[in-house]
Amino acid sequence: MVYTFTCSQGHDPVTFTAEAENDDEAVAKLMEEARGHLAEVHPDLASMSPDQTKQVIISNWTKSES
Ligand SMILES: [Zn+2]
Repeated sequence: MVYTFTCSQGHDPVTFTAEAENDDEAVAKLMEEARGHLAEVHPDLASMSPDQTKQVIISNWTKSES
């Protein structure tokens, strides 16, 4: 599956994608990929707990067959 997480909170949409076997793997990859963006643009999100960040990603991502 290809997981796509689009962040558009207060700026033009920025898209992160990860290919993963399951949701857990996808969350890990997307958190890793989005870390710099979150730290730079969303310090409030970057200071959330990993569980909270996970929820933000899961509630905003889309999945498609690779
Ligand atoms: Zn953002």
